[in-house]
Amino acid sequence: MTKKSYDDVQEYIKKISNRKGWKLNSDPETLNDLIKGLLDNFNRLGYYNCPCRDSQEDRQLDRDIICPCRYAEPDIAEYGYCYCTLYLNTDYDQNQLMKMIPERRPPII
Ligand code: SF4
Repeated sequence: MTKKSYDDVQEYIKKISNRKGWKLNSDPETLNDLIKGLLDNFNRLGYYNCPCRDSQEDRQLDRDIICPCRYAEPDIAEYGYCYCTLYLNTDYDQNQLMKMIPERRPPII
């Protein structure tokens, strides 16, 4: 597996946000943490497991939480940002307090 670099991840999330019509979190520290989380996950697992959810270390079992996850679109539509706050609706004003949103992913049994 080819390892990714920090820049690769940055490029990837920029591409996704452009393609989906979202924007990235503008807080540099949060963004940096999320990029590092995605980078670590990719280089450990071989896929971009969500940086704020636990992996089951199986691509099939984790497929709904490979970034951008299955829950990002409805979360961004409803709350203005995804569960990790990586991607935001373009009209979301980040001066507002960003509260933790409910986990839309069904519990794993
Ligand atoms: S919650 Fe956000 S960062 Fe996490 S996988 Fe979904 S889109 Fe990616």
